Parts: sequence; structure tokens; C-alpha cells
Amino acid sequence: MSFHYVYGPVNSWRFGRSLGIDPIGTISTCSFDCVYCQLGAIERLQIQRQIFIPTEQILQDLQLFAPWDVDVITLSGSGEPTLALNLGEILAKVKEMTAKPLVVLTNGTLLNDPDVRAALALTDRVAVKLDAVSDEQLRRVNRPVAELNLGEIWQGIEQFRAEYPGKLAVQTMILSAWNSQVQSDYINRIKQLVPDEIQLNTPSRPKPLTRQLDGRGNNQIADCAYPVNTLKCVDADYLKTFADRIQQQTGVLVRWKISQ
Ligand code: SF4
Repeated sequence: MSFHYVYGPVNSWRFGRSLGIDPIGTISTCSFDCVYCQLGAIERLQIQRQIFIPTEQILQDLQLFAPWDVDVITLSGSGEPTLALNLGEILAKVKEMTAKPLVVLTNGTLLNDPDVRAALALTDRVAVKLDAVSDEQLRRVNRPVAELNLGEIWQGIEQFRAEYPGKLAVQTMILSAWNSQVQSDYINRIKQLVPDEIQLNTPSRPKPLTRQLDGRGNNQIADCAYPVNTLKCVDADYLKTFADRIQQQTGVLVRWKISQ
């Protein structure tokens, strides 16, 4: 199968009709290896930025989708998009070409880097992952590269919040029920950050064990003709109750859904 750096469009419950751009490419690459990742086990776990796909190649693929009849163009793809060193250039040129709202889904691990924050400032919306309120939870759920810790990641997210002119969503995946203390810790962080929106999720699909191209951007995978791991998930009542609690205590809009 030939590889395309632009894919979709897909209907996203969070962003509407969305065309995806993958700045990472054939080898899945991320600073996390989340237990629920629909890409399968991350093939290249790294925190160093590099150019994976030349910007020109992405623009050529994007041209094939003109006139881009979509609500947004979303950069996520085969791993963590902020690892792409040409992220800023890609965003600037995609905006110039399409004039569409731009969204980036990030795990937030590179937000301490001023170049990453400057690139993301070119977008209209950013969704940042926050699945953990302790290092233990981070290691268990997100399984980051060894040098990452929650304190530094959080510092980057706060710095980004202070500077970013667009809309910031926090995206949180809950696998097994959080106890009251973990819920309170999360709510306290949300009070500090004051994002524009929270998106709560629980995984409804099993995790593929090996790389699955269709999992890019957390898209729906068509079938399960490959080995998978069943994941823990919470039910709709739990998500709704927690969503109501967060919204009441923080005033931040919370949207929730079972599935990615
Ligand atoms: S879910 Fe996102 S952050 Fe987690 S491993 Fe997959 S691509 Fe990386």
C-alpha cells in the first residue's frame, strides 16, 4: 500500500469534518507509547525533533484534496506532530494554501521548547493530552521516554497556555475509574490552566499490538484482523458524573464520549 501524508476527511466528534496531515510518516514515532494508542506499539520512541517528511511532499499531497471542503485541517498522524522540526513551515504553508482553520493534537511533551510554541501559535486550535496527575500514572498510562516527567510536561503546558492566542482543549483518556483524590488533583490542575474546553474519553476499542496505519489521528479502524489487547474502560455514567463535577467546579466546558 502506498503511503499518503494527507488522509481523510473523517468526521471528528471534536472538530467536525477534518482532513488529516501526517508529518511523521511510515514509522510511528512519539515521545509516549500510550497503552491505548491506536497506532499499535510505537516503533520509534524519541523526544528529539527532526524533519521526517519534506514540507513540499506534504503540500503536493494536500493539493490533491483541493478545494478542501472540510471544517478543519488537523495535524496528528503517525505519532507526535511537534516532533516534526518543519512543523511551523508546514502550518504556515498549509494556511496559505487552504485558508482553513488548523488544529494540532499534541501530547504536550515538547511545549517547553519555544520553537514548538511559536509553531503552534500559527494554529486556530490545539488539543493537548493530559491523562495523568502523577508520575506513576504517567509511566503506567503514557509510558514516556525515560527523560520525561510530569512536572516538566506540566510547566510546558502552562507556559503554552499563557502565550497561545487560539483555543486550547485538554484531551483526557480514562481507562479505569479514578478515585476521588485523583479526580480532585485533576480538577485543581484544570483550575490553574483554565483551558477553553475539556474532552473526556474512554477507549471503546482494543489496542492493536502492531503498527496500524488506519489508526492515524485516532481514526476508526475498519476491522480487527490483527492482534489486539483489550483495554479497561469506564462506562457512560462514570464519564458523565466526572464531566459534571469538573464543569461545576471549574466552569470549563466538558465534552465526553466513549470511543476515540
Ligand atoms: S496516543 Fe498519541 S501520544 Fe499516545 S503514543 Fe499514540 S500517538 Fe503518541
